[in-house]
Amino acid sequence: MRTRVIASATAVLGLLLAVPASAAGAGPGAPGIGDPYYPTYGNGGYDVSHYDLNLRYQPATDTLTGTTTITATATQGLTSFDLDFALTVSKVTVDGRPAAFATSGEQELVVTPAHPIGRGRRITVAVTYSGVPSTVQRYGFTSWQRTPDGGVAANEPESAWWWFPSNDHPLDKASYDVRVAVPAGDQAISNGLLLSQHTGDGWTSFHWQQTKPQATYLATLAVGHFDITHSRTKTGIPVINAYSPDLGANEANARASVERTAEIVDFLSGYFGPYPFDSAGGYVPNVPSHFSLEAQTRVFYSPATFSKGVNTSVVAHELAHQWYGDDVSLARWSDIWLNEGFASYAQWLWAEHEHTGTPQDLARQVYDAHPADDPFWTVEPGDPGPQNQFDDAVYDRGAVAIQALRDTIGDRAFLTLLRVWPAQHRYGNATIADFRRLAEKLSGQDLGGFFQTWLYTAAKPAAFPAG
Ligand SMILES: [Zn+2]
Repeated sequence: MRTRVIASATAVLGLLLAVPASAAGAGPGAPGIGDPYYPTYGNGGYDVSHYDLNLRYQPATDTLTGTTTITATATQGLTSFDLDFALTVSKVTVDGRPAAFATSGEQELVVTPAHPIGRGRRITVAVTYSGVPSTVQRYGFTSWQRTPDGGVAANEPESAWWWFPSNDHPLDKASYDVRVAVPAGDQAISNGLLLSQHTGDGWTSFHWQQTKPQATYLATLAVGHFDITHSRTKTGIPVINAYSPDLGANEANARASVERTAEIVDFLSGYFGPYPFDSAGGYVPNVPSHFSLEAQTRVFYSPATFSKGVNTSVVAHELAHQWYGDDVSLARWSDIWLNEGFASYAQWLWAEHEHTGTPQDLARQVYDAHPADDPFWTVEPGDPGPQNQFDDAVYDRGAVAIQALRDTIGDRAFLTLLRVWPAQHRYGNATIADFRRLAEKLSGQDLGGFFQTWLYTAAKPAAFPAG
């Protein structure tokens, strides 16, 4: 859902209008949600509240089949609407009636219901499909990684296309039920809590549930053999971690890092406020990639992350995203600094806790390491462009900017800001402009010049504020 306010306002509107079935003025929903970086991502005309996935995955052939049922509310009269998806669809129904469907562009699935949908109406869309996701490429890549014994969906900004149809943009967050049947003896890992696990006829069905709003790219699925561990944070949040048993030399370091999840959640809660979800954890599948992703409540870690030793810094980064990115999600992909700047800064807070450096010293090191003519400074963290969205500068310059902000507004306002931000936008979306407004309110300072210099200028800031 976009925000609680908008969702309830839409519901009220629906009641008041009592929209007729004819839905006068209805038209097609837009094929994109309006993101300047990714014009075709997400869609217009409806707002999803829940995804219910009922899938079956055969690791031997990398075959994924099943039905995803979407509960949504029309935000305009609709003659048709788009979903984002890349596997092969065999059937679509809207409120139980067969609907026409066609593919368009790279990942658009255009659904035309038997009758137009009135604005404010709640609809149920069921999509039945199958595919071999590792073989399906969009824009020249697949976000589905094969492992020796299964497959994994985890990527940013898009991974949903390879396993469920969706309104694929962080603006439209929703709750999830994910049911996946896998051959008996295998496990399926996803977000949230495991509600049940049943075995019969040679298949085991896992039912995972995410009750809090979750962006589509933060939904994750892994199937294969996993060793699953359980612990709890100090406040009792269940921590569920999973490790592929074939990580080889990386296994010991992976476990020594990820098993500190509860401790690091407790540490970060001291800065960011109460942990926003009802479970935490991570998983390490045997994938060849080198990145990690802050999948909501269940972080994805590539084994290579731990190839040089214990790496609790990356765990602190991904867990910081649970507040900065997952709880409060960006409104447009150009707001990526709100995710990566803060998650990187959290690594420095953790370093201070571990006595390996202070945020002030680590920020100074990054500032000094890049001379003024280094292309590093040509990336504007506040608007890096889609090609530089995950550039080092978004992370490192972005984190230096946060230390500079701390030095500018003082510890008291800064530490309040770190806590108030997640509380103010809990389970919603926000922009850098929203963040600036809050920082100005809490500090009583005009920060227009500061944000211009540190986030929106393609040059090295002339001075680094003294701590
Ligand atoms: Zn990150």
